[in-house]
Formats: sequence, structure tokens, C-alpha cells
Amino acid sequence: MAYKPTIGLEIHVELKTNSKMFCGCKNDPDEKRPNYNICPVCTAQPGTLPVANEEAIKKVIKTGLALNCKIAEDSKFDRKNYFYPDLPKGYQISQYDQPLCEGGHLNIGGSPSTGSGRRKIRITRIHLEEDTGSLVHPEGADYSLVNLNRAGVPLMELVTEPDITSGREAREFAEELQRIFRYLGVSDADMEKGQMRVELNISISKGKTFGTKVEIKNLNSFKVVEKAADFEIKRQEEVLESGEKVVQETRGWHDKKEITFSQREKEEAHDYRYFPEPDLPPMHFDKDYVRGVQSTMPELPQEKRERFKKEFKIDESSIEFFVTNKELSEYYEKVISEFKEWLSVDKIKDSDKLYKLVANYLISDVQGLLGGKIFVESEFKITAENFAEFVKMIYKDEISSKVAKMVVLEMFNTGGDPSDIVDQNNWRQMSDDDGLEKIIKDIIDKNPKAVGDYKAGKQNSLQFMAGQVMKETRGTAKPEKVLEILKKLLS
Ligand SMILES: [Zn+2]
Repeated sequence: MAYKPTIGLEIHVELKTNSKMFCGCKNDPDEKRPNYNICPVCTAQPGTLPVANEEAIKKVIKTGLALNCKIAEDSKFDRKNYFYPDLPKGYQISQYDQPLCEGGHLNIGGSPSTGSGRRKIRITRIHLEEDTGSLVHPEGADYSLVNLNRAGVPLMELVTEPDITSGREAREFAEELQRIFRYLGVSDADMEKGQMRVELNISISKGKTFGTKVEIKNLNSFKVVEKAADFEIKRQEEVLESGEKVVQETRGWHDKKEITFSQREKEEAHDYRYFPEPDLPPMHFDKDYVRGVQSTMPELPQEKRERFKKEFKIDESSIEFFVTNKELSEYYEKVISEFKEWLSVDKIKDSDKLYKLVANYLISDVQGLLGGKIFVESEFKITAENFAEFVKMIYKDEISSKVAKMVVLEMFNTGGDPSDIVDQNNWRQMSDDDGLEKIIKDIIDKNPKAVGDYKAGKQNSLQFMAGQVMKETRGTAKPEKVLEILKKLLS
């Protein structure tokens, strides 16, 4: 009997708000000057009082609604007492027994756009707390520095039930969460910047009881989440197979060696001496308040998938690409809307073909031209109108696919109008067969050897002559047409 892995996730997300959680300091994760965005409240000067940031609370509720959670009617903040050098108060304001959101779920796996075969991962709770400062360890120094810019930044913690069973699922779950955070605008959730931190709780067992739980921290990318989970499952299997016991501990991920390693064994469960934060009033959310937040919900990734599938009938991998690249998907829709009038006036039947063409050029050619950079419409020179015009020319067979690549490159560099570019370069596809036939006859006359080879059965010679024709027409002839005429004339 094989071991069954059980994985639960704990995810911390820095919320995108103007100010910190309990004071008016700027919440700026990009601030480079140390201890710049600080004040008496977030540096814990005696006599200061916290004031809760409503925007942060709203963002947690929004997230809870997006993840099908029950929003608390009554909630409060609690003190979690522990000492750490970057925690100036000696306690963290967090939430203990009355989190803002409880009992949600998120579906992963299967076919995302149709929703079939998806697995439900239950979410235990989402609560709100404050982030700590950070420690800086100068190289070679025998001391550490404390930077409190991050102290008091609103931090959302999301905990799942142990429903995940593989590294792949852990990764998919975290990736889908990141998309949701970004769609909601609650956080940029950049893992490399520490705006989204994923911890794994992993155990394996053969029976119905859970095995010993190991916690893995400091995972800074989705790839690492998947690798670390799979590595740890295998490691625990080997430990048990050799007759040993899995030790309850916290492990880290070694990036170069690609292994998890022991950081510290779990001491007795921490006694954080939680108690209600006396300086903040309890919170109450009535139905109207929650409805108000609900009314500001944008379209979510899953809704977009289903709509794109229905409206544009593009394939699943294209849909996934657009869902992940939100700004590009918005541009895609703008391009499509440029076709509206033409589609109805000219009574175009196969609009699906057109939608697919736009998707293909945006996903393959434009992505190639962007060279790995993320699409930002304000920095992109091709207007939606010009892009639509360009795809229309391909659709109507006015330019060949070879010319299309040259046109899109030119548009990308200069922002020019596709018709102008095509006309200036005389790139329109040769549509009259007579003209083309004349050129092909000419090529045949000039290449007696190739003709002989072809007649002797060498297919390559046909390709050679077709290449000559393409050269002569500067890529404006349709390759299939060239082959057809060549074969006809040579038979
Ligand atoms: Zn402050």
C-alpha cells in the first residue's frame, strides 16, 4: 500500500494599501531608505494607540468573498505575544478565534475552462494581522540591523485544510490564488519580493490517521513550492521505509542542492498568550456592509475562463495564457471589439477563426517580440484598432503569413498603420493567378536542372523552385498557390 501525502498551506500576503495597518505611515514595499516610513505607532513608542485601516479589512473580506468564505458578523483583533528583534512591540496584532473569514474553498486541476474534473481545496480561515520589520545582516559584520519600514504593513494570512496531495496541486493552488489576489487588486503577490509567502505542512501515512507533520518555510517561487513538496514527500517515504520516524520540525529549502533541510525541531507548542487587543474595538459587519463590498467585486479568473470559452471559443491553453496575463487579455478584447461593425455589416460567419487568429498573433508573435517582458498596454505601440486591421488583412488573405511577421514587427517598432506598411513595401499578396503563373514559368525556364531532378522524382527540387518564386515575389505569393501552379506546369 502506498503512502498518501497530505499537504496543508499557510499563505501570507502583504496587502496593497496606501497606509500601514494601524498608523498613517506609507505602505511602500519598494522604499529603499531604511526606517523611512515609520512613526511612533509602528515603532511601538509608549503611549501610542493603533487605529485599524478599513481599506485592509475590506480587502480581506473581498478575498473571502472571492473564495466562497463565510464573512464573520463579529470579529476582533488579538495580541499574539512573542519576542523577536524585528517586532518592536514584543507582540503582533493578529486575529485568534474570530477571523474575518472562515470556511471557503477554491477549485484546482481538471479542465479550468469547462470546470470538469476540478478538485475542491477547502480554506479553513483568512485573517488579518500586521507584518514584522526585517533584519539586515551586513556581510562580514558581527551585528544585524533592524529596518522597520515593513513593520505594521497589513498582512493577510490564509490557511487551507490538508486537502492537497502533491507538489503540482500545491503549486496550482498558489498560482490560482495569486491570480485572484491580482484580479481583486488586494496585492501584487510577487513571491520573489516576499509579498506572497507560502508555507507547506506535509505529512504522509498509509492509514486514516495523519503522519507527523513537517513544516517547510522560505519558498520564494511557485516552482520551488512544487519541488519542495515533492522532495519532502519522497524524503518522508524513505525515512519511514528505513524503519525510522519522521521528526516534527521546520525545514527550509536549499535552492542549489534542491533539498529540504532541518532548520529547527519543534519545541513544545508556543504559548503565545493570546488575548483580545484592548486598544482596538471589536468589529461588526452587517449584511449591508458585506453586500457593499460584494458590489465592488471585479470579474474573477474562473469567470473569465468560462466567458472566454463561450464567447471566443479559443483553446484552453490560450485561455489560460490570457487569464494569467490580465492586461493582455483586456487588449485582446479591445481588438475583438474593433471587429464588431465589420462582422455584422459584412455578415462574417466564421468569427471564431478571426478570434483565434488574434489570440495566436498576440500569444506567439507579440510575446516573442516582447522578449519575456510583461505586456503593458501604455508601453505598447500598436493600437487595438491597428492590430484589428492587421489581423483582418491576414483573414482576408491580403497578406501572406510570411509578410504578416514582417508587418507585425514593423508595427511593434514604429506603431505604424498596417495598410500603410503593406502598401509602402508593396507587400500585398499576389491575388491574380496570371501574374503569378508568368513568374513561375520564368523560374521553370531558368532552372532546367531542377526541373529534370523533379521529373526524376526529387521532391526537394520542387521546394527549391517554390523558394525561388517566393524570393522573386518577395514573399507576397501564397506558398500553397505557388506549389499548386508549379505542379500543374510541370506535369
Ligand atoms: Zn507608522
